Amino acid sequence: MNTLHKYLDAFGNLHRNQYPKYGKAPHKPILLLAVLDEIQQGRVKRDLIALTPELVATFRVYWRALVPPDTWHEKIVLPFRHMTYEGFWTLTKDELPILPQSLGKGATLTQLTTEIEGAILAPDLWELLQDRAAIDTLRALLLNQYFGKEFAGIQSYIPNNPLDYEAERLKAEAQSKFRAGVVRETADETGYYIRRSLFPRVVKDLYRHSCAVCSLAVDIDGGGEIVDAAHIMPFSRFHNDDPRNGVALCKNHHWGFDAGWYTFSDAYTVVASPRLRSAPSYIRAETAIRLPAQIEYAPALEAIAWHRANIYKR
Ligand SMILES: [Zn+2]
Repeated sequence: MNTLHKYLDAFGNLHRNQYPKYGKAPHKPILLLAVLDEIQQGRVKRDLIALTPELVATFRVYWRALVPPDTWHEKIVLPFRHMTYEGFWTLTKDELPILPQSLGKGATLTQLTTEIEGAILAPDLWELLQDRAAIDTLRALLLNQYFGKEFAGIQSYIPNNPLDYEAERLKAEAQSKFRAGVVRETADETGYYIRRSLFPRVVKDLYRHSCAVCSLAVDIDGGGEIVDAAHIMPFSRFHNDDPRNGVALCKNHHWGFDAGWYTFSDAYTVVASPRLRSAPSYIRAETAIRLPAQIEYAPALEAIAWHRANIYKR
């Protein structure tokens, strides 16, 4: 049996949980579809499949296209762990195999990314997946076998980079009313993870990668820049990755903002702490901060009010 036939057989006979109401679980085929896409798009450089935001976003796009709403829960951590039993998928940390039983029970996506680096594919599978035609054949098998012929053409409406698509969704969601409360991870674990990964990118893009207070912008070839996406209400307390809970600040202004050396007024001007002894070149009170060109993503007044009341040194 050649390698392609071996994996057509393996992918076509995945072990899946059954639930009387909804039939057999769709998680494993969807994870494999996402993995095939990530490899074909060139985003996987070696035989290690990591839980990258791109993989999670691709999983989500397939899930939404293939699984009827209000049936199974979208949980990438389940197939990511249980794929181990298929014989071609080994969880790994520091290049050493990890048994799925040794991971915490009911681990969330965020936890799992700290407990493992990802999954190593069997060498013959990784080699097979370097061939575009083999990927196309395996994808067709997964779609046909588990979801039916009507999804054969699904590839045409899967975005090339689902993370870009999710970034647009995140911005679209931010059109609705800002909620200042604590965001719970468990309500939508996947959404929470994707948001968390996208927050810095979306916020820095909105401010064109320059500091809202001093306009400083420095970046370097190969990655790295002076500007951070700062949370106005701290992430550690509120878990709020709405772009309107963010502002792009250089390292100095990020530090001073988190320390309460200054805050913003409701008119988006700088309010300097009366306790600052000298700061002529650091903060100029009453200067307007730079806002995003798309003004609907400007910091939420509720978030700023919280910062003034709780962080700002009055
Ligand atoms: Zn600055």
